[in-house]
Amino acid sequence: MPKKIVAGNWKMNLTFTEADDLLNEIAELLENETIEAQIVVCPPHPYLEMAGDVAKESSFAIGAQNLSPFESGAYTGDVSSAMLKSMEVTYCIIGHSERRKYYNEDDKMLTAKVNQAIEHQIIPIFCVGEALPEREAGKHFETVRHQVRHGLFHLDTNEFSEVVIAYEPVWAIGTGVTASPEQAREMHAYIRQLIDERYGKEVADTTSILYGGSCNAKNAAEIFSQQGVDGGLIGGASLIPKEFLAICKAVK
Ligand code: PEP
Repeated sequence: MPKKIVAGNWKMNLTFTEADDLLNEIAELLENETIEAQIVVCPPHPYLEMAGDVAKESSFAIGAQNLSPFESGAYTGDVSSAMLKSMEVTYCIIGHSERRKYYNEDDKMLTAKVNQAIEHQIIPIFCVGEALPEREAGKHFETVRHQVRHGLFHLDTNEFSEVVIAYEPVWAIGTGVTASPEQAREMHAYIRQLIDERYGKEVADTTSILYGGSCNAKNAAEIFSQQGVDGGLIGGASLIPKEFLAICKAVK
């Protein structure tokens, strides 16, 4: 069985004090809850240490939103996987459509980031998903196949077994429009089939594939109950503690 995971991607939001408040509110809300899923909180880099301190007393894990494709050295502004690992960061989002779009992160760059993460025992949450024109042209499978193959399939079986995939149709991110349960189920099954063809059934059956794109407390249960959907990557709603908790609880 794949591990169930709900990861909150805070993106570039919140001041230090606001982040402190949100972390503590999440920890407080989780105190009396038994959640089936591994909860992962992904704050901006400057708040990772604070998040790690709160997480020590709580049940959530810490993820970063980005890491450097390089090991170390003269890369001003970059944060390496070794640095993240030394701050108890367990997961890192890689290949998010916002980074592909605004920072031109291509297959080569993403492969380098995935390699860095794996080398330092950080679990990549590797995002894939088609843009609206690709969906409308019926090319969504082709797009996702390319992203999965070119971003991940250079890994050997042991390395790939560490990876989490998030299917995030670009047209659903931050738009209030979610993929239909059927669209999510269909794409998750397709991704699993690709993994099966490359790594075999055992790996395919244990890879966590999350859905992301305008998940909220109202729609999460239906999406998460679809065959092959192992949880979610949550953007906007992860900034609202009770909403985030309700989404986490929707994983069964
Ligand atoms: C995301 O950014 O990964 C995401 C899923 O955002 P939202 O939930 O806001 O659509």
